[in-house]
Amino acid sequence: MRKLFYILLIINIFSLRLYPQITVFSDFEGGNVNILKIDALTNTIYFTPDIDQNNTLRCWYYFGVANVRNKKLHFVPSGYNNLAKAYMPAYSYDRKHWYRVISNNYNFEIKALHDTLYVAMGYPYLYSDLQNFLNKIKKSPFVQVKQLTKSEGGNIVPYIIIKNDNPEVRNYVLILARQHAFETLSNYVLEGFIDYIITSENLKQILNKFFIVIVPIVDVDNVIKGQSGRMQKPYDFNRDWSDTPHLNAVKKIEYLVDSLNKSYKLKIFFDWHSTYPSVDSNIFGFFNLYYFYQKQYHNLENFWNLVSKLSGFKVLPIYTKFQKNVFYADQYFYRMKDIDFSCTIEFDWNYIEKKQIWDIKNLRFLGKKIAQALIIYSHRW
Ligand SMILES: [Zn+2]
Repeated sequence: MRKLFYILLIINIFSLRLYPQITVFSDFEGGNVNILKIDALTNTIYFTPDIDQNNTLRCWYYFGVANVRNKKLHFVPSGYNNLAKAYMPAYSYDRKHWYRVISNNYNFEIKALHDTLYVAMGYPYLYSDLQNFLNKIKKSPFVQVKQLTKSEGGNIVPYIIIKNDNPEVRNYVLILARQHAFETLSNYVLEGFIDYIITSENLKQILNKFFIVIVPIVDVDNVIKGQSGRMQKPYDFNRDWSDTPHLNAVKKIEYLVDSLNKSYKLKIFFDWHSTYPSVDSNIFGFFNLYYFYQKQYHNLENFWNLVSKLSGFKVLPIYTKFQKNVFYADQYFYRMKDIDFSCTIEFDWNYIEKKQIWDIKNLRFLGKKIAQALIIYSHRW
């Protein structure tokens, strides 16, 4: 018996050396996971998104798994009582090229082709991805990148102005993205939008109609920490748009708009979000129509029909009643006197149409189509 034990021990040590065990790590920018158990026999990883004391919803995970080449891995996420379920997570081997798991189940499987695999609830878009993008676009003479403020965590919240030097231009468009940190899709749409605008042959003429102000990541702290940010305590960013906001970024955006409105007219406000990852709306996004406000209603309808026509993607308007004492950004800007419309878009994580998946290319394409629609729409100004 004793002999058998030693033989087994030696085999075990030997096989451990030959076949190193699966290890999970999340000690990188935006990394987030709480591993509950790894079953080495069946290659099953039980996990849940990790949340810090300010965050309440388990909406985001992003982690690496090492020593997995040629293994069929089973992933079992949990924490569903407050988890935004994703049944089509994203995975990558190099954190540059991302693929989607095609699954109808919240548990999923991936056959790993390389030693290290990365898995995330959706396509990650990190603070450093934004920095790289800003470094690229600020080479354009029409782009200014500025510091809006510092976040509660001491991180810089940047904003972008796309403008020509014509002093006659009076109208502007404001876009916010990532008020909820895990809603990464909007940054890919935004890249497509900005790239299209700033590389247009007629950029100077386009910017004779309006200039654009963009805050590409409102909640930088939670993006950096890999936290969801949705319904965070003490304030969710998109519930802080009162006349006395608490969060630095919200305060500074309100202040910026107030000062711009002394000389210019805010014509369109966009707040870009994403649905929960388990929601399939088969559209490019839905948006709020405060239906009793007729002028806004028709303007917004015209605009989205334009986006739909140009992109071929379906539109689903959501008729939302103005809610007192809930301080959404779109409600805050909707009150502005010169505004054509104020709207939230919720980009979809999964399918455009049945079997056609939202990938990064399609998201950028959508950004381009929104830019084209905006340019056409602006002819009325
Ligand atoms: Zn959101």
